[in-house]
Amino acid sequence: MFEVLRKSLQTGVVTTSYPAGPPQVATRARGRPEIDWANWKDARPGAAVCPTGAISYEDSDGQRTARLDLGKCIFCGLCADVDKAIRMTNICECATRRRGDLVTGAQYSLKQDGMHDRLLSVPPAPLEALGQELHKRVSEILGRSLHIREVDAGSCNGCEIEIVGLTSPVYDLERFGIHFVASPRHADMLLVTGPVTRNMELALRKTYDAMPAPRLVVAVGACGCSGGIFGQNYATRGGIDSVLPVDVYIPGCPPNPHALLHGILIAIGRLPTKQQPGR
Ligand code: SF4
Repeated sequence: MFEVLRKSLQTGVVTTSYPAGPPQVATRARGRPEIDWANWKDARPGAAVCPTGAISYEDSDGQRTARLDLGKCIFCGLCADVDKAIRMTNICECATRRRGDLVTGAQYSLKQDGMHDRLLSVPPAPLEALGQELHKRVSEILGRSLHIREVDAGSCNGCEIEIVGLTSPVYDLERFGIHFVASPRHADMLLVTGPVTRNMELALRKTYDAMPAPRLVVAVGACGCSGGIFGQNYATRGGIDSVLPVDVYIPGCPPNPHALLHGILIAIGRLPTKQQPGR
């Protein structure tokens, strides 16, 4: 007994100071890719190697619109291997309230050989009005306590491992008054992973229907945001928002516990949404 106490006192507090302090993420951890839009010479190599279509482009009338969709990105780093204008960061706070806010892009005029000539425009920053409204509504209704029901709608369990990490002493989700519950009837928030397999679709809908209003839905991971590597096919619906209305999207493959915490706190209005670079 005294030995346990001695060890506990020796160890001290292991819980992260996040969100009061910055997320403590290893420098080598994989976060979102960043594109140097102003100096991007060619979108084609990155788009050719991207396994999920997160980098895409359209050419018309001598101009190119190139896009990076973080909702599809699995943070694999293949694009950074073939293009010096792209670099992988360890930035994990990517959650947004609107799916469209995960997409950044730019327009270029083109040279004869299809390389970028000049940067014509970077899309303007999205209006945050909708998010602010949701923030107010959620804060009013849910106050400072939240109960979460998690549903695996067909994930590889990578996201689940990170979600379990949220309840460890390091991330200690319960210090925010946030708890996981077994029954959807006790839940305020539905945390959903996976690309929604057709086998899980009905179970997901039933879980949502069993929750009392008001209820929040958070899509977790690239699969939850867009279908990820699976996309839409005979077996998967492709993204939670193809089945349920989603309040917050948390990209990543899988998103680490800091990223999850960031998204959950955004959903209940305790953190503002960060602007994606290029906006
Ligand atoms: S890091 Fe993202 S954008 Fe780059 S190749 Fe991988 S999935 Fe595509």
